[in-house]
Amino acid sequence: MEKTSCKKCNGTGKIKENFIPVNSGAMGHGLPIALGMALAAKRGNEAWKTYVLMSDGELDCGTTWECALLAGHQKLNNLAVIIDYNGFQAMGTKKEVLDVEPLADKWRAFNWEVVEIDGHDYQQISDALDKITTAQKPLVIIAKTTKGKGVSFFEGKLEWHYKTIDQEHYQKALEELTKD
Ligand SMILES: [Mg+2]
Repeated sequence: MEKTSCKKCNGTGKIKENFIPVNSGAMGHGLPIALGMALAAKRGNEAWKTYVLMSDGELDCGTTWECALLAGHQKLNNLAVIIDYNGFQAMGTKKEVLDVEPLADKWRAFNWEVVEIDGHDYQQISDALDKITTAQKPLVIIAKTTKGKGVSFFEGKLEWHYKTIDQEHYQKALEELTKD
């Protein structure tokens, strides 16, 4: 990758890091980029795999379902998606804003391998990730989570989706997370 001017090039005009920065600030951009990477790997007979962590809010985006359709059609078994399925997005619950159930059936209908797990269980996460490439189709892991888990005043509270934590709440949260 070459650029004529960049803070990272130290005046050489060349960036040596092995990555490509992308803007995924608007929802629903990560999966399309990842799909392109996975497709390039497939076509180039490259062994590397592509992993995407996305929110359940991104299930509202048309780009997500375009990618689901194309990745399933292309049988991209080098692509894995983890959905943080906490049931909340910026303006309300999934059920209130845009209900996506039956979610697993939707992905299966797009020819994806589906694994449903407890998103707070590291062993389940690890086992699910090991399933990449085991089927001739892309893998989606629906990780059920609790928003703000472990902190009593954060758990299941929509306001903390966008509210900035102050020092007082930070200290209280830390106490709850570190107690025996
Ligand atoms: Mg969410």
